[in-house]
Amino acid sequence: MSATTAASAAYIVAALLFVLSLAGLSRHETAKAGNAYGIAGMAVALVATIGLAARDGDALSIGLIAVAMVIGAAIGIWRARIVEMTGMPELIALLHSFVGLAAVLVGWNGYLSVEGAPAGEAEVLDLPVGIHSAEVAIGVFIGAVTFTGSVVAYLKLSGRIRSNPLVLPGKNALNLGALAAFAVLTVVFVVSPGLGVLAGLTALALALGWHLVASIGGGDMPVVVSMLNSYSGWAAAASGFLLDNDLLIVTGALVGSSGAYLSYIMCQAMNRSFLSVIAGGFGNEGATAASGDVDGEHTETTAEEVAQLLRDADSVVITPGYGMAVAHAQNAVAELTRTLTDKGVLVRFGIHPVAGRLPGHMNVLLAEAKVPYDVVLEMDEINDDLAKTSVVLVIGANDTVNPAAAEDPASPIAGMPVLHVWEAEHVVVFKRSMSTGYAGVQNPLFFRENTRMLFGDARERVEDILRAL
Ligand code: NDP
Repeated sequence: MSATTAASAAYIVAALLFVLSLAGLSRHETAKAGNAYGIAGMAVALVATIGLAARDGDALSIGLIAVAMVIGAAIGIWRARIVEMTGMPELIALLHSFVGLAAVLVGWNGYLSVEGAPAGEAEVLDLPVGIHSAEVAIGVFIGAVTFTGSVVAYLKLSGRIRSNPLVLPGKNALNLGALAAFAVLTVVFVVSPGLGVLAGLTALALALGWHLVASIGGGDMPVVVSMLNSYSGWAAAASGFLLDNDLLIVTGALVGSSGAYLSYIMCQAMNRSFLSVIAGGFGNEGATAASGDVDGEHTETTAEEVAQLLRDADSVVITPGYGMAVAHAQNAVAELTRTLTDKGVLVRFGIHPVAGRLPGHMNVLLAEAKVPYDVVLEMDEINDDLAKTSVVLVIGANDTVNPAAAEDPASPIAGMPVLHVWEAEHVVVFKRSMSTGYAGVQNPLFFRENTRMLFGDARERVEDILRAL
């Protein structure tokens, strides 16, 4: 069997393992197996690719690949070991930016070794040069949009730049104009593949990626993260065409389509138009004026008072958010759940689809703390029961329980479905101050008559309640 046939067979096995991985990752119970399939698929793919390179390449190229892999693996292992759960979204955004950058470099390399090569030194292609040029233009465009878009997402998610949407005059016209200019430049590049055209196309795509993500407001960032995940898949697929690597095409398409579907599901959950979000907040201008002037008197409470409230309760719903992750409060919350359940109180969780900073963030933390899956309910499953609930404990959540989303059409998060915690008999909000959540919008919940604020680190406060119980 030739090396090429062996590599093709290995690529098919790797592609199947990636499909099994995606299927496994879609459910809690099979997520670990899904991860293992992914690792195995990547190992098979690496061995096959390096085997092919070893057959075709010289000792220097193999040495360079080995050095790059050792450095990359060392950095990857180091980052994976130290990253906090709360830092995952920004790390993911950064990784997407690498895929985008790689696609730009692969595209430029394709150009320099074919269309831009000195006469007589150009690589021999088994396809018309025009098709190759189109592949280069499209690959560079998707890669550059992914690169700058992901860098802006990283900066926003890590709090290095403000997460309010950038509203340039005529921003929709700018985006549409950039797309039209891309189409024209691609045609020009296919007809006459010049360096200047490719450089212009790259600069245009870098600016578009930056603008698309900068225009999206804090509340819509979850969709942006999954959308960039999808773009990074398409960027990888585009590189696959240029490198003539079938596995990269298949894997890129898997990542691209699953990311697109996840973005679609998240848009539905957030009541946002999919097209509006991928077009950089198209049509959202009216909602960007922050209605942050909510004010009023809030009432503080103590851990002892909350313990008394819980002793008297029939049913308790816990709605965790990003603050639970920051405080590492999940184990204390699990302990509180067990204690109350042993006392005969019905305890359930209400999980908002974008609570925390990445899809499924709260589910992962609660599973890690061994909270049984059957008491962890989705927002739609619990919302109707909240009006019949004695006490809701809002643990480090803010935007996802903001009544303004449901009641104030001028709010930047208007229309986003939220947990209707204010309908419960009593609401206790665990947070450290009166500051806003991720979307930067003040929360009228804090000033409602049935709301009590329990200030401090969420884990310490839950532990205080456990002691008082
Ligand atoms: P928010 O980010 O709205 O609010 C978190 C709250 O936790 C803050 O108000 C903060 O208040 C409090 N907090 C922080 N640290 C602690 C602590 N140690 N102890 C107690 N409280 C603490 O959280 P939500 O989960 O409600 O909403 C998620 C937001 O993130 C949404 O806007 C969503 O769109 C966005 N987002 C979600 C992503 C996803 O995929 N899930 C990805 C990107 C963004 P204080 O500082 O006063 O303590």
